[in-house]
Amino acid sequence: MARTDAIVLGAGIVGVATALHLARRGLAVALIDRRGPGEETSYGNTGIIEANTVFPPAFPRGLARLMEIAFKRAPEANYHLGFLPRIAPWLLAYRAATQPEKLAETARVMRPLFKRAVAEHEELMAQAGAAHLMRKTGWLKLYRRDASFAATAREREIAAHFGIPIRVLDPEAARTLEPALNPVFRHALNWEGATSISDPLALTRAYAARFNALGGVTLTGDARSLHREGSRWRVDTAEGPVDASDAVVALGPWSPDLLAPLGIRLPMAVKRGYHRHFRPRGNASLARPILDADNGYCLAPMNQGIRVTTGAEFADRDAAPTPVQLDRLMPAAQELFPLGEPVEAKAWMGSRPCFADSRPVIGPAPGQAGLWLAFGHAHWGLTLSAVTGRLVADLVAKTAPVVDPAPYAAERFAR
Ligand SMILES: Cc1cc2nc3c(=O)[nH]c(=O)nc-3n(C[C@H](O)[C@H](O)[C@H](O)COP(=O)(O)OP(=O)(O)OC[C@H]3O[C@@H](n4cnc5c(N)ncnc54)[C@H](O)[C@@H]3O)c2cc1C
Repeated sequence: MARTDAIVLGAGIVGVATALHLARRGLAVALIDRRGPGEETSYGNTGIIEANTVFPPAFPRGLARLMEIAFKRAPEANYHLGFLPRIAPWLLAYRAATQPEKLAETARVMRPLFKRAVAEHEELMAQAGAAHLMRKTGWLKLYRRDASFAATAREREIAAHFGIPIRVLDPEAARTLEPALNPVFRHALNWEGATSISDPLALTRAYAARFNALGGVTLTGDARSLHREGSRWRVDTAEGPVDASDAVVALGPWSPDLLAPLGIRLPMAVKRGYHRHFRPRGNASLARPILDADNGYCLAPMNQGIRVTTGAEFADRDAAPTPVQLDRLMPAAQELFPLGEPVEAKAWMGSRPCFADSRPVIGPAPGQAGLWLAFGHAHWGLTLSAVTGRLVADLVAKTAPVVDPAPYAAERFAR
């Protein structure tokens, strides 16, 4: 192959956005994946570019909710019993990190990334001819119980502090935005600054096509073949070996598979999630994603139909799918919106790569010169991909970073 300056491992939305940013700097970049761009986790998300995120999803509080989850009755979470001993330390760390006093800290350190998320995507979308995929209609969150709406008070307070626009709506006002919703909820919040994508796969493909148009090369290969070749990094691909002085690990939930043999062990877990598309009945439609907060699922209008997405399942990443949450939530979803026939025979499953402190890892790999990390974006990998790509390109090219990368460094786990 011709001279390569940088290798990006993983062509999910994070890797593709990173490769595109590097190519825009004039670097010769090889983007390597074993599948086509955007076909794994980045395919199946809810499509929300949620620049307004203040708090990560909280560990369930209250005995009643915990018991519902324990007895596998709650739609928002599921678990495989045999996996619990392995995930327990991570769950305890997550519980500690979502205590109220820690949440404010997370909101503060993540804000620099979130606040740039939409503008960064808009810039890439304009260049990639993908602006038509973005809707600027917000994200509507519905609350069936007064108590669950009241529990959003602190988050709304912090959002107001950051100048994030939220509109509090009664059911009637919410239904002027979304007439197809049945008034089975008592309160609604429209996070007006949120934007959403009508086809996440098309977006990743558009960025990949732009990357190729700038001279970037997309190759098929197994990222785990990464090794040192003198002072450079080398990966084997279907086109032969490729080497470069810099390599970026953007393998999402598979990142530990490559890093563990290099001696880099980071405490990442996955929250598995499912989706299935349904045709709306009659001429019902949605203009924006909807969260049914008390049942922990979303309805998102996509080109394929209404995408119903689930909350978290704690199970081994590679265990067979168990889409029981979809079964549990369907009565509530059908009560809320007229869902018709399913589009596919089976549910899709993906794995959100998550650190317990709800921050990604972005920056140099400890002890491995020229190796960079960009993964662990949890519920916000689509949202944060474009700004992550810019930050990684800044670090590789040794230009002033768009945001201070310190809070996202892998070294935070060594402290
Ligand atoms: C149900 C659900 C809903 C979600 N909703 C949202 C949302 O609304 N908004 C949002 O911002 N985020 C959302 N997310 C999260 C988001 O989808 C992820 O954070 C994001 O897709 C992660 O992107 P990634 O590029 O890091 O990983 P991936 O998209 O998984 O990409 C990793 C790539 O690495 C490749 N790979 C792995 N191993 C190897 C190997 N050995 N060799 C070569 N290639 C390899 C894979 O083929 C894949 O292409 C949601 C996730 C789920 C599951």
